[in-house]
Amino acid sequence: FVHQLADESVGLDDLLRSPLYASPAPALPLPAALYGPGRRNSDGVDLTVDAMRQPLLDALARTTVPSMPMTDPAEVAAAVARAHAAFASWSQWPVERRAAILSTAADSMQARLPHLCALLVKEAFKTWGDAVAEVREAIDFLRYYALHAVQLMEPVLLPGPTGESNELRLEGRGPWVCISPWNFPLAIFTGQVAAALATGNTVLAKPAEQTPAIAREAVAILHAAGVPHDALQLLHGTGETVGAALVQAPGIAGVVFTGSTEVARLIARTLVTKDGPIAPLIAETGGINAMVVDSTALPEQVADAVVQSAFRSAGQRCSALRLLCVHEGIADAVVEMVAGAARELVCGDPGRLATDVGPVIDADAFANLGRHLERLRRTARPLFAADVPAGAPPHIVPPQLIEVQAIADVDQEVFGPVLHVVRWSGDPLAVIDQVNALGYGLTLGIQTRIDSRAQAMAQRARVGNVYVNRNMIGAVVGVQPFGGEGLSGTGPKAGGPHYLLRFCAERTLTINT
Ligand code: GLU
Repeated sequence: FVHQLADESVGLDDLLRSPLYASPAPALPLPAALYGPGRRNSDGVDLTVDAMRQPLLDALARTTVPSMPMTDPAEVAAAVARAHAAFASWSQWPVERRAAILSTAADSMQARLPHLCALLVKEAFKTWGDAVAEVREAIDFLRYYALHAVQLMEPVLLPGPTGESNELRLEGRGPWVCISPWNFPLAIFTGQVAAALATGNTVLAKPAEQTPAIAREAVAILHAAGVPHDALQLLHGTGETVGAALVQAPGIAGVVFTGSTEVARLIARTLVTKDGPIAPLIAETGGINAMVVDSTALPEQVADAVVQSAFRSAGQRCSALRLLCVHEGIADAVVEMVAGAARELVCGDPGRLATDVGPVIDADAFANLGRHLERLRRTARPLFAADVPAGAPPHIVPPQLIEVQAIADVDQEVFGPVLHVVRWSGDPLAVIDQVNALGYGLTLGIQTRIDSRAQAMAQRARVGNVYVNRNMIGAVVGVQPFGGEGLSGTGPKAGGPHYLLRFCAERTLTINT
């Protein structure tokens, strides 16, 4: 191949200069997630909780969560057929037109931020801070994928021999199934759908059964912005019924899924064993995420990062900290400081502005956490549990610290504000090896004042997102592309420059001129 290139006077330098090999990372002017006092978007809109206080309270008073009928799984085949028919035209629209629609939807979400937040608070029990951050992330996904699709889908002329033209084109693949979780019922839902639509695919979206109303709102916004109704269809139901029927449907072009590792495996198995084209799967699953703290770390900084990472969103993020591995030399000081900070957290009604930790999503999640704590009680030592005030709503799990003997004792992801603490001494790289051995690979926190050590630990870790000397949640679209490896998912990373490629068919056109 290289020989042929040399013969035809096309050098590797030419090849590497081709836009195909240039980084396709698009630059957003400023992600909405980063707006704040003194950091507003180009319209001068301030989307902080403080600035939005009154509109948020008004929206909360006005908003009720509508109930939604479940889709009959028998209707899935007809929905897939409509998605196929819609693909014929949607995929042929100029990418700029699809991108403009997504940008309009972003503007519309920004204009409706208080209402969307109110739904997130009432349907998913998000705190105000989490709700505002989530709407901003959804806006960022829409703008980022719109911009990126325009850059990426520009046909690329490739160098070739004289008398021949070569072009690489990206096209949509067909109807995609988007299955999204309840923990980011707007941001992840919107991100999956926007990526598929931007690249010319049609979408069958199944939100988590706990949070269909906010998904319906997002779909209404996208339809109003100009997405044809059959190009984006919402199907509400459980994974076992509607989800399974969608994945098994012949002719779907791909599946993008965020949820448990177990369900990701099930989907992968179904996709490879059914007849018809082999559909790709993008799976983003969970993690047993660790923060490794050495004896040089600053306890105040560690405490702040730990409280944010383990307890914000009631620990219901797949990025959340589950396992605090702290050097025995500073373990007591760190635990005391974390407990002191966690004691200040306000647990309670997420509709109140002062609340830091609301309920977990439902009775099943609450019971599951109870069983996990019960199991641990035999071998682990409780260190601290926050108070839940009398009169608080049901299903609040108090933020808590529990000491385990070894990293391997935490062998499953528990979705809640329960932080396992383990002490270590000796080589920090050996700690990273033990974390790697858990098999997950989503986020890792490192706390040290020795730069070379941080680099060596990051290098050794088999995880998707490493955060040094800060919290380890809240990846910003286009800034911290997010997603893991191993048991934590397939990649490519959401909000990163390689995500859209997986949604595309690549076609090379060679013409003898
Ligand atoms: N992207 C989110 C974060 O960085 C987590 C997404 C999830 O929980 O699925 O915190």
